[in-house]
Amino acid sequence: MARLKPLHEPLYLTAVFRQVGEAYLTPRNTELKYSREENPTVLNLENKLAKLEGADNALAFNSGIAAIATLYFSFLEAGDEAVLSMEGYGTTIELARLIGRRFGVKIRLAYPRAEDIVEEINERTKLVLIETMTNPTLKVIDVREVAKRCREVETILVVDNTFVTPLLYKPLKDGANFVVHSLTKYIAGHNDVLGGAILWNGEFIHDLWNWRRRLGGIIQPFDAWMIERGMRTLEVRFERQSKNAQAIAEFLSEHPKVKEVHYPGLEDDPYHEIAKKLFERDLYGGVVSFDVGNESNAIVFLRSIKKIFPSPSLGGVESIVTYPVKSAARYINEEQREALGITEGLIRLSVGLEPLDELLEDLDKALEVVK
Ligand code: PLP
Repeated sequence: MARLKPLHEPLYLTAVFRQVGEAYLTPRNTELKYSREENPTVLNLENKLAKLEGADNALAFNSGIAAIATLYFSFLEAGDEAVLSMEGYGTTIELARLIGRRFGVKIRLAYPRAEDIVEEINERTKLVLIETMTNPTLKVIDVREVAKRCREVETILVVDNTFVTPLLYKPLKDGANFVVHSLTKYIAGHNDVLGGAILWNGEFIHDLWNWRRRLGGIIQPFDAWMIERGMRTLEVRFERQSKNAQAIAEFLSEHPKVKEVHYPGLEDDPYHEIAKKLFERDLYGGVVSFDVGNESNAIVFLRSIKKIFPSPSLGGVESIVTYPVKSAARYINEEQREALGITEGLIRLSVGLEPLDELLEDLDKALEVVK
């Protein structure tokens, strides 16, 4: 039979590969024999992710947190310190603290501004983890400034680029050592599969690969195939979501029931200038946060919204709202939340692909009920 040439890479739904004769080596000199180590469908996803992020290497995981856990296990040792953004994904902070407590690593939380992060870095700092755009108040961190300091003291800089995607910004070109993603969000994009990735430039790090193998966090082949499928529409989805988010942010900032809007695409947003400096396009992402005054207003709003689901994720084709005080921000204390502007009235909206006028109507109707 003539060799078939499928348009897309096939799905290798297999746990094992037959071992006959010589070992089958991948281009990174790892052996293809068992899918906890390597799988061609996973490798295909990794190649595409690396291309998208402008990286030489990629490892894919079964969730964003599995990727972050593998970095922690790979690099942190007793006596080290790590600096994390105080406004970060809750489980990223929670896991660092638990590992830190168990293995003797001091975790310092810094306000998500380059000068405050740099202030916390010292000669014991082994790793710094920041998010390009924070969750939920969408502060944009000047990654270049943090990278400069990390280079001086030879600290590993990890940038979680989930919220902005490589379409807006590629932290590796500005000096980050590793980029991590929750692929579950924009990159997969359909709220139906979980995944994570670590990307970097330079040599392939076999020790990191070995930590993935030891912790068993590799993505399953079917999930990798789903994510690669979702990636094919990333650009059109992200562009539409960002444009709709911009229009929604402008609408909300004029609305009498809304106290404050956080969105770096607004010209008077305190992070607009940093975003303009870093981002490759005149787009600012698909998440908007806004304050409806207090907790009871927030609850009334969440109960009244009809077409937008209250649900704990972002980046998918469906619009989703969350209440950050009770979700992402529950791992920091009240004082820290206050300093960050994570108020009792704050709502986070991830804009999907629904028609803009339907979303605006839904938001307007739910805001009518707010006092
Ligand atoms: N990083 C960010 C910025 C996130 O928002 C999330 C999840 O919401 C994660 C990491 C964790 O990813 P996952 O849920 O895929 O484990």
